[in-house]
Amino acid sequence: MSNADQESWSRVKERLRAEVGDDVYSSWFQRMDLEAIEEGTVRLSVPTRFLKSWIQSHYAERVLACWQAQDAKIGRIELIVRSAVLRSAVAKPKPQLAPAESAGRFPNGHAPGNGRPMLAGDPGVHEALGGSPLDTRLTFESFVVGRSNTLAHAAAKQVAAAKRDDSVMFNPLYIHAGVGLGKTHLLQAITWAGNATAERKVLYLTAEKFMYGFVSALRTQTALAFKEALRGIGVLVIDDLQFLQGKSTGTEFCHTLNALIDAGRQVVIASDRPPSDLESLDDRVRSRLAGGLVVEMGPLGEELRFEILKARVQAARAHHPSFDVPLPVLGYIAKTVTHNGRDLEGALNRLLAHNKLTGHPVTLEMAEREVRDLIRPQEPKRVKIEDIQRVVARQYNVSRSDLLSSRRTANVVRPRQVAMYLAKTLTLRSLPEIGRRFGGRDHTTVLHAVRKIEGLVGNDMALAEEIEILKRQLQD
Ligand code: ADP
Ligand code: MG
Repeated sequence: MSNADQESWSRVKERLRAEVGDDVYSSWFQRMDLEAIEEGTVRLSVPTRFLKSWIQSHYAERVLACWQAQDAKIGRIELIVRSAVLRSAVAKPKPQLAPAESAGRFPNGHAPGNGRPMLAGDPGVHEALGGSPLDTRLTFESFVVGRSNTLAHAAAKQVAAAKRDDSVMFNPLYIHAGVGLGKTHLLQAITWAGNATAERKVLYLTAEKFMYGFVSALRTQTALAFKEALRGIGVLVIDDLQFLQGKSTGTEFCHTLNALIDAGRQVVIASDRPPSDLESLDDRVRSRLAGGLVVEMGPLGEELRFEILKARVQAARAHHPSFDVPLPVLGYIAKTVTHNGRDLEGALNRLLAHNKLTGHPVTLEMAEREVRDLIRPQEPKRVKIEDIQRVVARQYNVSRSDLLSSRRTANVVRPRQVAMYLAKTLTLRSLPEIGRRFGGRDHTTVLHAVRKIEGLVGNDMALAEEIEILKRQLQD
């Protein structure tokens, strides 16, 4: 794609933002990328199917018009889902799964026989508020407990077992962990278990569904009904809170959260980051979120991976009795395949597929061949901005508050720039957020620091080495 195309795209985005306003823009278009412009067709991508269909049905013409204003030759817009390309077709998605969760599920796992959770269309719930789809396999029975998730599991159990009039012990319960470490599994387990007893209504929503419900409720002038419906809920479970975007959504989330908590209802939240790192929410919400129980789930240890694999094979055998995986093979996968639950599942799916298609028994040799590309030397550690600030401050003999302060003396400016540079290169945080975490600085200041250090390391061997050492300290 040419620079000119990218430039057109920037202008189109500006125009779009001006037309729809910041809020709408950041809710729906923030994560839209330009893929290609070919023969009058512009191909744009978004990360989820939900965003795609929403944009298609509400904004397709507007997006096209913005392009045409920029370039009269454009006649068509094509929207695609970005991650669909990355998600290899390991297992055919089952229709009842939520789109974002459907990749790589183990086929034909067991289904619990107990009550169905509340779904869209349940009487008493505003239709915009139907729960997100649940996966029947994500229950407490299939959740394996190990060192890294004991606390989160215990808290989840407690929440699920609580009766209507029990006093709420920790509210909200906030679980955070990296990708594939079992957040969605635990949240859906709470929902299944809670709704099986019909004691308290448990509503499971992805943050996107929450945004969607609210936005569409506003459109149909029933924000009040929406609020009433939400308030009639015993337990509200929100998954992937990091995707909540837009100021008005944030404000409404804040009201909802306060209303539920003040009324003694339970709120459970999962996110890929701690409350302090949720950049789209304001300080009051962040502190409210941090005021309950915040639990982090660590990477799945080898032992836990092994147990998960064993349980998975067991479940698969219910449908494929001849599927036999020798323990050494499971040991091998547990040892070598990454810490992410999704890859474990992917690895087993391949063995199963191979076994079914060729009729060959599962052996260590076959496993080595089949899962080769899932083996990674070591998952990079999740580096936290606080750790970066601490390590850099120590290295340069300044205090962490110096780094966050507005002091501009040389002995503080350079370490601060190094720390910002490391924050940008070692974490997935955005420039505005890094700025915020460095004493409320502007994102342009962060960008300047990053560029500055990038420029220096090319020429300054000593600095380059210092930075290497800092990186190693942070990643080991
Ligand atoms: P997250 O929502 O944290 O990204 P998921 O809950 O979707 O992760 O988990 C990814 C996969 O790993 C799922 O198939 C899930 O069942 C499995 N998994 C993760 N942790 C566990 C566990 N402790 N026991 C059993 N399965 C697990
Ligand atoms: Mg999840």
